Amino acid sequence: MSVMALRILINGSKGRMGQALAAAAPDLGLKVVAALDTGDDLAAAVPGCDVIVDFSSPAATANVLKVARAHRKAVVLGTTGHSAAAKQSLRRLAANIPCVWAGNFSIGVNLLFALVDRAAGILGPDYDAEVIEMHHRFKKDAPSGTAERLLEIILTQRKLGRKALRHGRSGIPGARTDSEVGVHALRGGDVIGDHTVLFAALGERLELTHKASDRAIFARGALRAARWVADRKPGVYDMQDVLGLR
Ligand code: NAD
Repeated sequence: MSVMALRILINGSKGRMGQALAAAAPDLGLKVVAALDTGDDLAAAVPGCDVIVDFSSPAATANVLKVARAHRKAVVLGTTGHSAAAKQSLRRLAANIPCVWAGNFSIGVNLLFALVDRAAGILGPDYDAEVIEMHHRFKKDAPSGTAERLLEIILTQRKLGRKALRHGRSGIPGARTDSEVGVHALRGGDVIGDHTVLFAALGERLELTHKASDRAIFARGALRAARWVADRKPGVYDMQDVLGLR
């Protein structure tokens, strides 16, 4: 007896990630039943799928979650660039459906999250933490969703609020204090995504770096998440849940 392939709907299908998802789906045994982009009618296409995989625009997210809820479908949400306030209300919407929401679907980056958590805990405030990211020239939001997650991890470990963040430095910001965390977003060329977390003390420096060289890593991770989330209970999950890293 053949098992029916999981049916996925790609939202943002004409984009870089949309195309990577469509290319990776067959290898993972998934069937793309709808490929939608700006202007297409999501509500009309959703009934035919099991999971919606959205890598489009932050402006689209609320509608994606509402339509998914109305049709009782699971969602894999990869879109980044939401404001902190938008994230909060979207999270409430997402909690009504099975939803994997991750700023980065790569396995290496999810391991980096776990390593940074550990390092920030072991290396106290004497070790200045800075996050540096670089992406292609077309990226619209900054810092990246992945950098945001790395910062959250460091801020939580150091018991600091978002006021501690220093986005770039210019002029005369004064000597660095141990209650700040620097953030630097580089943009250029076709870089898919580099992230470095640096812990610098007097006399030594630890740098943890991840470099993505193929968008397929995010696509494969998101499709793995689609398979995982299809029969979960409603709730907001992330890649740490999917990979069992928690
Ligand atoms: P892209 O600009 O190449 O593609 C986005 C696509 O979405 C475009 O084809 C655009 O027309 C379409 N789109 C815009 N608004 C839409 C709407 N309302 N409904 C349907 N489609 C719409 O961008 P990309 O590089 O493919 O990235 C897409 C998103 O995914 C970005 O937010 C990016 O930061 C994020 N991203 C996340 C991860 C991750 O692992 N979570 C990895 C890479 C990119």
